[in-house]
Amino acid sequence: MTKTRLDSALAQAAARLPGPQPRFEAELLLGHALGRDRAWLFAHGERVLDADEHAVFGALLERRIAGEPVAYLIGARGFWSLDLAVQPGVLIPRPETELLVELALLQLADRGRVADLGTGSGAIALAIASERPQAQVTAVDISREALAVAQRNAIAAGIDNVVFRHGDWLAPLAGERFDAIVSNPPYLATDDPHLQQGDLRFEPALALASGSDGLDAIRHIIAAAPDHLVAGGWLLFEHGWTQGEAVRALLDAAGYVEVSTARDLEQRERVSMGRWP
Ligand code: GLN
Repeated sequence: MTKTRLDSALAQAAARLPGPQPRFEAELLLGHALGRDRAWLFAHGERVLDADEHAVFGALLERRIAGEPVAYLIGARGFWSLDLAVQPGVLIPRPETELLVELALLQLADRGRVADLGTGSGAIALAIASERPQAQVTAVDISREALAVAQRNAIAAGIDNVVFRHGDWLAPLAGERFDAIVSNPPYLATDDPHLQQGDLRFEPALALASGSDGLDAIRHIIAAAPDHLVAGGWLLFEHGWTQGEAVRALLDAAGYVEVSTARDLEQRERVSMGRWP
């Protein structure tokens, strides 16, 4: 068989991969195939791949070209300062969600109590806990598979100030109150065509879609959160970029104060918040 150098394998792979980051994706896949990080790849461009390495990388490449998300193929995704394990069955953390973490940190005192509803891989809860090691973080998910992944991520990151609860939104938190409640809930309409495109085709529908207007989960959280917030506590959640006006109206109508929406790096309305008086 032909001898392929690592640098030319990367260039050939990048030329075949669709999407905006073909080179980066090729590096992630080859790094995974070789059990090495990207820095190692840069330093070993002249190394020749053996037949096994070639086969493993080739198989990953074909699966990626067929549409599988890179994060599921390599079992990991960076979020905040964390390298999180992910697998089919949990949402792949998105960079936009870091805005929610930043805004929550602004409101949260060192020893604050915060609940993350629908924690998935644990992205939000663990990012907050890593920045506020004295805070008491509670991570909730209805998916036991997601909770297992999130718990594994906490252990891997050495984070010990998060407790995990199984259940539907606030249901497992009876009698508990928090200084902040945060969530990146599902917010697509069930017939949103994006669900049939890209990575979303491979992600759990439960984590993505929520009713005919995408707002079922958000309506539920807005209604249920006041029983679990201290006076002056904050509710902050992510939503779709066209939903800002609708969610501010819902927050206002429910009696929250200081209602506002923050925009993401693309200047799209992305995170709304309100304070329970
Ligand atoms: N909280 C997780 C994240 O932001 C999962 C969110 C979800 O499954 N909708 O990545």
